Amino acid sequence: MATHRTKMLIIGSGPAGYSAAIYAARAMMEPIVVQGLQPGGQLTITTDVENYPGFADVIQGPWLMEQMQKQAEHVGTRMMWDTIVDVDIAGGSPFKAIGDSGDEYIADVLVIATGAQAKWLGVPGEHELGGKGVSACATCDGFFYRGKKVAVIGGGNTAVEEALYLTNHSDDVTLIHRRDELRAEKILQERLLNHPKISVLWNKTVESFEAGPSGALAHLNLRDTVTGDASTFDVDGGFVAIGHAPATELFKGKLPMDDGGYLLTEPGSPKTEVPGVFAAGDVTDHVYRQAVTAAGMGCMAALDAERFLANLEIDMDGHAHAAKEAAE
Ligand code: FAD
Ligand code: NAP
Repeated sequence: MATHRTKMLIIGSGPAGYSAAIYAARAMMEPIVVQGLQPGGQLTITTDVENYPGFADVIQGPWLMEQMQKQAEHVGTRMMWDTIVDVDIAGGSPFKAIGDSGDEYIADVLVIATGAQAKWLGVPGEHELGGKGVSACATCDGFFYRGKKVAVIGGGNTAVEEALYLTNHSDDVTLIHRRDELRAEKILQERLLNHPKISVLWNKTVESFEAGPSGALAHLNLRDTVTGDASTFDVDGGFVAIGHAPATELFKGKLPMDDGGYLLTEPGSPKTEVPGVFAAGDVTDHVYRQAVTAAGMGCMAALDAERFLANLEIDMDGHAHAAKEAAE
C-alpha cells in the first residue's frame, strides 16, 4: 500500500477528467487521475464520433480518448490504474481517497468526474449490436440513421426528447413503451403525440434485438404487456432511453445530490457544497451529457480548483498546503 500526495486528485478518466488534468498539469498542479474501471470513459464503447469539435473527418471514440490521455500525460499528469472505493471529505481540504488497490490518495483539491452510465434493458442482442444498430444516445448516433427507420424504447422525458430529436434525421420514428401512459412531461407528450413522423407502440417490451444478414440490427422481438402476444418490429436503429445512472454511490451522504443521484453544484459552476471539491461532466449533468460539455466542465473545475488552491496557499501564509502535508 502506497500513499500518493497531490495538489489535485481527479477521479475519473473521461473527457471531464482528462480535460481537468490537462488544465491542472499546465498550471503546475501535478494532478493525479485515478482512471477507474473504464479508462477513457463512455466514449471507449462507441465507434464514430462526429460532433466533437476539431476534427473534419469522423473519428473513433476510443482513439479520441487515447489522444486525451496522451495529451494529459504529456503535460505532466500521473495516471493511476485504480478505482476509488472510499473518500473522506468531511474534514475539508486535504481530502483522502482510498483505492481498490489499497493505495491512499491525499489531495488539496478533488475533482469528481466519475460520469454516468446509460441504463440498458439487459436483453439478448442489445450488447452485441451496440454500435451496429443499438444505441443509448440519439444526439450522438441519430445522424447515422438518416432516412432510416428508428425506434426509441422508454416513456420518460429522455425517450420523448430522443424521439423528437430523431425526427431531424428520420421520417419514421416509433416510441415503444411498456405501459399505455407516458411518464414524460405533458408538454413533451403533446409534441410527441402530435408529431407526424412519430408513432407510438403502447404496452410493449423489447425481449431481444436481432441482426439481419448484414450483421446489423434488423428487428426487435416484442411482447405485449397486456395480452402477452409476441410480435416482431423491423427497424434499422434501436435507441434505449430508459434513464441514466450517475456514478455517485461513493458520495452518498457526503455530498448533496438530486433525486436521480446527480451531484449538485452551484448553478453554472463545478463547485460542490464542500470547498475544494468540484464535480464535472455527466456526474453532475442529466441534461446535456456530451463529451464536449463534459470536457468544458472539466476545464472549469481545474480553473476553479487553481483559484481555490491559490487562496489556500495565501491562507497558509505562503506555504503550499501540499508541501506541508508531504512534510508531515
Ligand atoms: P465518462 O466518460 O462517463 O467517464 C467516467 C470515468 O469515471 C470513467 O473513466 C470511469 O472509469 C471513471 N470512474 C467511475 N467511477 C470511478 C471510481 N470510483 N474511481 C475511479 N474512476 C471512476 N458524446 C458526444 O459528445 N458525442 C458522441 O458521439 C457520443 N457518443 C456516445 C456513444 C455512447 C455509446 C455513449 C454511452 C455515450 C456517448 N456520448 C457521446 C456521451 C459521452 O460519452 C459522455 O457525455 C462523456 O463521456 C461524459 O464524460 P465524463 O468525463 O463526464 O464521464
Ligand atoms: P425516467 O424518468 O426514469 O424514465 C424512464 C422510462 O423508461 C420510464 O418511462 C420507464 O417506464 C422506462 N423504463 C425503465 N426501465 C425500463 C425497462 N427495463 N424496460 C422498459 N422501459 C423501462 O428517466 P429519464 O427519462 O431518463 O429521465 C430521468 C430524469 O431526468 C427525470 O427526472 C427527467 O424528468 C429528467 N429529464 C428532464 C429533461 C427535461 O427537463 N427536458 C430531459 C430528460 C430527462 P415506466 O414509465 O413504466 O416506469
